[in-house]
Amino acid sequence: MGTVEVVGPEVTTIHVGDRVVVPFTNSCGHCFMCRHGLQSQCETTSVRQYGTGAAPFGYTKLYGRVPGGQAEYVRVPQAQYGPVVLPPPGRDERWLYLHPADRASRTQIWNPATPSPSSGSGRWDSAIRDLTGGRGADRVRRGGDGGARLPDGEGRHRSVHDTATRGDSCAQQAVGVDRIAALKTAFGSVRCGGTVSLSGVYGGSAVPVNLMRLFDRQVTIRMGQANVRRWTDHLLRLVSRDDVFDVERLASHHLPLEDAPDAYRMFRAKTHDCIKVVLHP
Ligand SMILES: [Zn+2]
Repeated sequence: MGTVEVVGPEVTTIHVGDRVVVPFTNSCGHCFMCRHGLQSQCETTSVRQYGTGAAPFGYTKLYGRVPGGQAEYVRVPQAQYGPVVLPPPGRDERWLYLHPADRASRTQIWNPATPSPSSGSGRWDSAIRDLTGGRGADRVRRGGDGGARLPDGEGRHRSVHDTATRGDSCAQQAVGVDRIAALKTAFGSVRCGGTVSLSGVYGGSAVPVNLMRLFDRQVTIRMGQANVRRWTDHLLRLVSRDDVFDVERLASHHLPLEDAPDAYRMFRAKTHDCIKVVLHP
């Protein structure tokens, strides 16, 4: 989120001085996928060499290696379509969360900013079952990062981001995710016949779930990068009056941009009850 400083000659939808929020995926707005509401599969920005979807900010060459958005100045590809012009200042933090939760709509929301039922990893699944007569939730949404890691030669772990940045992109495609606790909690929290929505970034081709169990329980899985631009106009109108999704309580930390490396470490280690960090440039 920021202020427009310069616009390219073909960009007529935003102007210098506009306050905008920019979706994390870059999409063109006019290809087949964009016209069908699948902006995260944009055929203009997708990386065909690897068969991956629309290019997001700040990811590896598998997804186009567009420089990250957590910076003082950001060049925005496809700026004729992506940026969403915001209302006057006042509820700025609310606009940071114009990500749709369409893949598991009408879920009774347990605010993730609320402390978990017990310390440590918590037992969300059993707590939710207690609240739902033992059945589980109709719909469960699991966001966040896939966080795959690889052991190095000394037994430590380095992130796949580190590895892929050095060009070893095949590693990212091959390894499984190691942060599967939340995934298991999601599947353990949903009722038979319910829906689990996965909207985080997942790397790795291993299947860390028991498909037979999910089949038996008739669980529907919906997943993929959020088609953010499909929903932003609607969401902007929806949250302009009231914080209907209670997102203003979501951030656990507000930090200056220069503290971003420490913030990432804290988020990765899940210390200080770190759930969501808002960086201020
Ligand atoms: Zn497109």
